[in-house]
Amino acid sequence: VLYRFKIMLEVPKVYWSDIGGQADVKSKLKESVEWPLKHPEAFARMGIRPPKGVLLYGPPGCSKTLMAKALATEAGLNFIAVKGPEIFQLFSKWVGESERAVREVFRKARAASPSIIFFDEIDALTVKRGSDGDGGTSVADRVLSQLLNELDGIEPLVNVTVVAATNRPDIIDSALLRPGRIDRILYVNPPDLASRREIFRLQLRRIQCSDEVNAEELALKTDGYSGAEVVAICQEAALQAMEDDIDAQFIRQEHFVRAIRSMKKRITPEMLQFY
Ligand code: ATP
Repeated sequence: VLYRFKIMLEVPKVYWSDIGGQADVKSKLKESVEWPLKHPEAFARMGIRPPKGVLLYGPPGCSKTLMAKALATEAGLNFIAVKGPEIFQLFSKWVGESERAVREVFRKARAASPSIIFFDEIDALTVKRGSDGDGGTSVADRVLSQLLNELDGIEPLVNVTVVAATNRPDIIDSALLRPGRIDRILYVNPPDLASRREIFRLQLRRIQCSDEVNAEELALKTDGYSGAEVVAICQEAALQAMEDDIDAQFIRQEHFVRAIRSMKKRITPEMLQFY
């Protein structure tokens, strides 16, 4: 059987300082992943084991992927990224190929340790077992079993940390989140005022703005926007400035204000209740 699943080994270049704000999430992640690697003896002394896996959950565009990449960059870990739905695309062609892909991901991660396996959209991979009503033999079931096998470690996971991300923590099979598996669960919240100010500051450094542009004020006007939307607002402000005058040298505050007005919020209050 042809093996078609390409596993990309990356060394991302995202530093903690590239992520605006979100200080709590950053420090919890450092504790969970960096500390055990840097100070294994301290964990042994305290009689606790480091987590094998961390689940990052929260609304879209709020830095889950950036966090995983920064962890890898800052701790010098190899980074293997897999999207949940990709594992299933294989199924239509070859029976058993999806499970094999999961096995292969872990094999590569062990070979590249210390490493992080980043499972984005993990919900796609772990719909609650039996939910398609065929008594536990569906591909989803077999993929989940394979994933649990890997985590439970017939071969131990040494210096391999699984970081999973989802917008839908409610549909993840609870077996995956049991102690000893992906048992550190962190909410990645939408950026608060201080975080939005930092994201604006990071962006303003890169683009040509007039001195009047005020990150604090922009942060105040963007309550409820995701980090991705704050970044998009800065791009849009530049376009607004060019629309006014294609020879414009600087983006002014009014362009940002217009950009904010034109940007729709993707995160709704109903969506947040859900977390
Ligand atoms: P999804 O659930 O949609 O996959 P995500 O939570 O993984 O989203 P990211 O991919 O990390 O979100 O973020 C998307 C983009 O938004 C980033 O590439 C970055 O440009 C911007 N962004 C989001 N949050 C921040 C932040 N705190 N600081 C700087 N940039 C941010």
